[in-house]
Amino acid sequence: MKGRPALFLDRDGVLTVENSYITRPDELRLETGAAEAVRTLNEAGVLAVVVSNQSGVARGLMTEQDMAAVHARLEQLLGEDGARLDAAYYCPNHLEGAVERYSRDASCRKPQTGMIDAAVRDLGIDLSASAMVGDQLTDAELAERAGIPCVLVETGKGTTSFEQARAAGLPVAELVPGVLDAARWMVSRLKSR
Ligand SMILES: [Mg+2]
Repeated sequence: MKGRPALFLDRDGVLTVENSYITRPDELRLETGAAEAVRTLNEAGVLAVVVSNQSGVARGLMTEQDMAAVHARLEQLLGEDGARLDAAYYCPNHLEGAVERYSRDASCRKPQTGMIDAAVRDLGIDLSASAMVGDQLTDAELAERAGIPCVLVETGKGTTSFEQARAAGLPVAELVPGVLDAARWMVSRLKSR
């Protein structure tokens, strides 16, 4: 049996306003159209799966509990607008961290594919029908390694990353204004398959 399609969503600069390290729930702001984007995926039967590097944990800027509290705020804000994430994967590690137990080169850290691999296992995802939306070069690299198309958004660091991806020869399916456009792109791509 084939699994379900997923749109893997970067968090910072895509679903939420880029703001360096977000370590407290009150620092989190939704990007324009974020809730409608997730709702669009929910209604189309596309799994909405967050994949986010949060090296602030390894850097000693927050704990995993802080990270969970920020995530709870994200779910709350989306939920207030009728949107539901199907899953979220966060990578707390960084090779050059300040906290020993997180200071390693973990396979979850983008552009490595650990978070997508875990989601495919956990949720029964059909990777061939899935895609990634991000605002950084690591998101485009992750998508290429996972063998899925990548859409970059103009929010966050997306515009710069688009130029960098082109210079690096990384395939980017589309540069779109924001995450809602990415969700609509995903749904129309599914319909045309
Ligand atoms: Mg980002």
